[in-house]
Amino acid sequence: MQEAKGANLSKERLNRIKRLKKAIIAIVLTMMIVPTIICIVLVVKVITLQNEVDDLLALKDKSDGTVMQEESTIDVAGSESETDTGNREDEQTTEPPNDDNQTPDGDELPEGKYAYLTFDDGPSSNTMEILTILEKYEVKATFFVNGHTGDKMVSRYKAIVDMGHKLGIHTYSHDYDKVYGGLDKFADEVISLREYLFNITGEDVTLFRFPGGSSNTIVDDIKPYIKWLHDNGYEYWDWNASSGDATGKPITAQEIVNLCVEYADRGYKELVILMHDTASKDSTVEALPALIEALQARGYEIITIDERSTPVQHR
Ligand SMILES: [Zn+2]
Repeated sequence: MQEAKGANLSKERLNRIKRLKKAIIAIVLTMMIVPTIICIVLVVKVITLQNEVDDLLALKDKSDGTVMQEESTIDVAGSESETDTGNREDEQTTEPPNDDNQTPDGDELPEGKYAYLTFDDGPSSNTMEILTILEKYEVKATFFVNGHTGDKMVSRYKAIVDMGHKLGIHTYSHDYDKVYGGLDKFADEVISLREYLFNITGEDVTLFRFPGGSSNTIVDDIKPYIKWLHDNGYEYWDWNASSGDATGKPITAQEIVNLCVEYADRGYKELVILMHDTASKDSTVEALPALIEALQARGYEIITIDERSTPVQHR
């Protein structure tokens, strides 16, 4: 009786020890597995976040590339000045251009990389030389012109169109007081140049570029001007690459090429290069051959802005 009781007791103790062992093993296993799972989850999270950070940094890089300048040389309308006259201010904008993902109306350009050489403020005594270089390389460009009178100027507008390039309106006077002195004056600046260009070339031009760009600091609120343009069937373009030829200080042809190539190497699918066609911008002309070759070497097709292109706009 005593013995049987003792045997029962030790069996019970053995069972208890077994249960205790199982419990300890379960606890140890749990303590190992849970942290491992947490670790795995955290690693995955970190990788995902790292990718997001990389994407954001890439985006930031892209928009940093749009710190640009445009000159505001005022060529007095009605004069056929062969030298730059008027004030010159530098403007800077840090506005990013619209993303490349916008779908343009109508037909789209075939997949590829496109560079747009845009020349502002012309025509000038440099226009014909620019046209000769473009012809040699069989590339087309876009000229955002102002209203200049005189036989020579008239023949330059005609040459731009006859040689297959595109005209854009850059306002008649480029005089900020007139251009941004209210919607009435603005409309007059746009319409009078449109009519002038139509009379000379037969082209009805609805492509537009704001003097100073749409992010200029002269006008408090550009939105009404943009609305007027759109309401009246115009489309405006800014740029996402500045050639640097409007900084106010002399720039060499090589510096212009280097600057543009820097932008090209950012990989824009549509590279809109801001340049100037004025009498004093000789280094812009000089830079053209090397610039065209550098762009083509990077796979860019150089074409005029057309309705299939996606506008690059600061605002
Ligand atoms: Zn301009």
